[in-house]
Amino acid sequence: MPDSVIPVFDGHNDTLLRHVMNAGTAKEVSFFTDNKKGHIDLPKARKGGLRGGLFAMFVPSKYDDESGVPFDPEDPANFAPIDQPGALNFTNRMFAMARRWERKSDGQVVIVRTIAEARSAMSEGKLAMVMHIEGAEAIDKDFCALEVLYAAGLRSIGPVWSRKNIFADGVPMAFPSSPDTGSGLTDTGRELIVNCNDMGVMIDLSHITEKGFWDVAKLSTKPLVASHSNAHALSPSARNLTDKQLAAIRESRGMVGINYHVAFLRGDGAHDVNTPMDVLVRHAAYLVEKLGEDGVALGSDFDGCLVPDAIKDATGLPKLLEALRQSGFGEKLINKIAHENWLSVLERTGI
Ligand SMILES: [Zn+2]
Repeated sequence: MPDSVIPVFDGHNDTLLRHVMNAGTAKEVSFFTDNKKGHIDLPKARKGGLRGGLFAMFVPSKYDDESGVPFDPEDPANFAPIDQPGALNFTNRMFAMARRWERKSDGQVVIVRTIAEARSAMSEGKLAMVMHIEGAEAIDKDFCALEVLYAAGLRSIGPVWSRKNIFADGVPMAFPSSPDTGSGLTDTGRELIVNCNDMGVMIDLSHITEKGFWDVAKLSTKPLVASHSNAHALSPSARNLTDKQLAAIRESRGMVGINYHVAFLRGDGAHDVNTPMDVLVRHAAYLVEKLGEDGVALGSDFDGCLVPDAIKDATGLPKLLEALRQSGFGEKLINKIAHENWLSVLERTGI
């Protein structure tokens, strides 16, 4: 990898889900070869400077084996509750996939359990994976699965996806909409937050309702983090963060990872891949203004969203960083956004 490529640590991708859904079908591909359609594989990561990230394990309510499409946002069946044993089983499939990549990578892919391990792997040009759960349905109310998954390397949990569970309630993919769409943390949800704080597991607030956000803000002793969300003031999606939420994140020395999904970037919420890079740069500038230079990073949503053609996939990361440079972001700030802020906030969380 040329030294001129700035290393990137990214806050969110659904690459494991894509691989597990395609396993055993005609669409099965290797993580170690360039997959034409996917956003992340090892060759693309190397080319784009992607050296680490939170790798999400998300369990869909249903999916179509034929199309491989995880969900249609218009179909309520895709937001139906899921049972814990089934969710844990599906999560194990994704965790096992990550473990196989590590085992077969000849040392090039590493599941990291501390940020010291992440820094060391990234400096050697390896891909550092921090294991993350998106929507905690796999965790039982007695938190046995939490202990076992932690031992396997889990270090980050989004208590809820856009689907109610025993811990909290999630926002729908509504536009335009306030994120204040439902209830907050349940008693079991409060226990989850306390356990994660104790164990050194990051709580991810992307997808949670505004009530749930404020419940976590009150209870958690750690920085508030939204791994893949944008500014509601620029794109009024229920998935984005209001100025008041951004102020609370700043107050906690927390962070927001910028999501590349076109509908969460654009002011009109359109699903249009011809969304110029400037639209993303505007969110970056706005978030830096509201959160400070230590509060903004990247949260691509690669392999789980509609990425602007201007970025396309992980190979487009240098273009994104160049667009920040062109609009006046200095090198120090670009490095913070590219990787340093993620590593620092994870360290502040106790990982
Ligand atoms: Zn998500």
